[in-house]
Amino acid sequence: MQTVSTIGGLRAALAALRDRGPLGFVPTMGALHNGHRSLVEASRRQCDVTAVSIFVNPTQFGPNEDLSRYPRTLEADLQMLESTGVDVVFTPTPEVMYPAGASTVVDVGALGDRLDGASRPGHFRGVATVVAKLFHLVQPQFAYFGQKDAAQVAVLRQMVRDLDIPVELVVCPIVREPDGLAMSSRNRYLSPQERRTALALSRALAAGQALADSGEVQAGNLQRAMEAVLLNEPGLKIDYVAVVDWKTLLPVDAVKSGALLAVAAWVGTTRLIDNAVLAAR
Ligand code: AMP
Repeated sequence: MQTVSTIGGLRAALAALRDRGPLGFVPTMGALHNGHRSLVEASRRQCDVTAVSIFVNPTQFGPNEDLSRYPRTLEADLQMLESTGVDVVFTPTPEVMYPAGASTVVDVGALGDRLDGASRPGHFRGVATVVAKLFHLVQPQFAYFGQKDAAQVAVLRQMVRDLDIPVELVVCPIVREPDGLAMSSRNRYLSPQERRTALALSRALAAGQALADSGEVQAGNLQRAMEAVLLNEPGLKIDYVAVVDWKTLLPVDAVKSGALLAVAAWVGTTRLIDNAVLAAR
């Protein structure tokens, strides 16, 4: 496994590997867990070469968000990636990704202002900009993202389509702890008490899912069922509870297959998200 931190180093490392076959790419912010590992494994199954980036992208954090305290565990991350058979890891500094004077951004329009984009103004502009840059640098045939960040997937699909970027996005299922909590680098922020409180997110989704499975199609009723679970949990503050179309991220009135149940909530000072896609009906 080669670890490179410069654009020249990345290009040279990948040039030497490209003729092996399809290249898969997994962008991350590090503090890796089994959710990230599942993306790497998906790339390893499908591609001959796998590249991973570790970059805590400052432009996707708001001024009062957790950029400075975001967990950084580079050594453990590299060990995990090595043991998973990754070929190239790109670990740029902010100065490498955003040299002085850089000013071009990628803005996907209204889609970027929905769900997490509504709570985190500018977040998806930062995400789309850094992922566009990474796609240009790595030039992968396949790129792997988690359903965990469902709104991010919608934003990046729109970007790839609008900018004709020749990459296939592969969306991998949410990896959970045994008790249902969606794995997240931010789970490390949680105290033992908050960790218990955080389980309400997956419980709320399970309640919405169960109601949908019983035949309920009114999005409002599903939303209320999810809210009821979250409102019952002291120590948790709802950010959003939504039933949306996964492509447009707009609310739906009646659910059909592919509708997304999505929740975001503050547990103490930690913002957590989770979602479920309703199965075919
Ligand atoms: P991050 O490092 O948080 O930016 O995440 C990097 C990638 O890992 C994104 O595509 C995430 O959606 C994905 N990811 C994060 N958590 C999970 C999870 N629990 N299951 C599956 N994928 C995940």
